[in-house]
Amino acid sequence: MYLYEYQAKKVVGDAGIPVPQNRLAFNPEEARQAAEEINKPSVVKAQVRAGGRGKAGLIKLVKGSQEAYSSAQDIFGKYHHGEMVEKVLVEEKLDIAKELYVSVVLDLNKAKPVVLISAEGGVDIEQIAESSPEAIIRVEVDPLEKDTPEHKWVEAWGKVGLRGKQLLKAASVASKLLNLFYKVDAFTVEINPLVITQAGDVIAADAKVIVDDSSLYRHPELQSYQELSSHPLEIEASKAGVSYVSISSEGFVGIVAGGAGLSMATMDAVFEYGGIPAAFLDLGGGISEVGMAESLKIMLKTEGMRGIIINVFGGINNCEIMAKGINRAFQEADIQVPIVVKMRGHSQEEGWAVLENLQIPIIKHGTTDEAIKLLLSKIKM
Ligand code: GDP
Ligand code: MN
Repeated sequence: MYLYEYQAKKVVGDAGIPVPQNRLAFNPEEARQAAEEINKPSVVKAQVRAGGRGKAGLIKLVKGSQEAYSSAQDIFGKYHHGEMVEKVLVEEKLDIAKELYVSVVLDLNKAKPVVLISAEGGVDIEQIAESSPEAIIRVEVDPLEKDTPEHKWVEAWGKVGLRGKQLLKAASVASKLLNLFYKVDAFTVEINPLVITQAGDVIAADAKVIVDDSSLYRHPELQSYQELSSHPLEIEASKAGVSYVSISSEGFVGIVAGGAGLSMATMDAVFEYGGIPAAFLDLGGGISEVGMAESLKIMLKTEGMRGIIINVFGGINNCEIMAKGINRAFQEADIQVPIVVKMRGHSQEEGWAVLENLQIPIIKHGTTDEAIKLLLSKIKM
């Protein structure tokens, strides 16, 4: 789950890292009131998941409440990477002296968290990594060590040129950010920019937090964010016990597959043959007839979707049950788009028989590539 900035700031603030005074607003009038309450020069920031809002004109500096109103009016309803702006964060403006970067990410090869520290914040870390890789300090962390000694952070910030009180404040931020990373079971926590103000304070001007959905059961405090943070079809799927991931707003192929690995492979094949995936739905193991039917109905609601590839293997799942689920979806929904099924494994003969009755094209012994090519040819017709 990818938290919005305002949610991430709350979590980061609760972890003891300084964040600017802020208020969330759902319309320009609320933005005006928010700026009035803050009663200082402010920043109006679009709340959308993708970064690069600054460059896209979705972050506006405002002098007072009237300007907050008109800036909000400008921003609301704009689209940023396929997401419409429906909320803005109004925040006390920081007088920026310097922009730093700090994040904790998972190094999947080493199975360790890595803390990244740089004095060149404000832009994408990828950009810093490319233009001046030496400007990023990597601190690998031992996840079995309860507390990483503070001197590590002091050393790292010292290497990129920080001194004195700011060095100590930034070190404390890095240490608290790592604790937060563990506490919320995050994949990524990032503060970019971490701002040094003219007055010498160190404050998080932006925050990004991505948590592992599988851990949400032990974070009741984050569960309420899920509804607000997820695509509506993702929520519907999670209630049905399957996972739906929206891929691209230009996509037109829906992928229903069993297992994350097969979903990924199918997605690669769709790209390979010139298709663009709109979304994939991973059935997981032990899918029931009703679950299969629900999954297909959820995929059918995908905007812009013009054809569905169902790529399943009967291992833990049973082909006959999945085929019956597909049959059920055909009875209960009005299906107008082409569907191609590749199905093999446990109870395949029974499954194929059900699908043959429905007259859906089935790839029995062939490859995923074949199934995709067939589907794309049907979409183009
Ligand atoms: P992003 O572009 O989506 O990552 O959004 P950020 O929150 O990181 O903001 C982008 C840039 O806007 C920052 O790097 C700052 O230069 C500027 N900015 C953001 N908040 C403030 C603020 O409170 N005061 C000032 N002066 N600039 C800000
Ligand atoms: Mn940022």
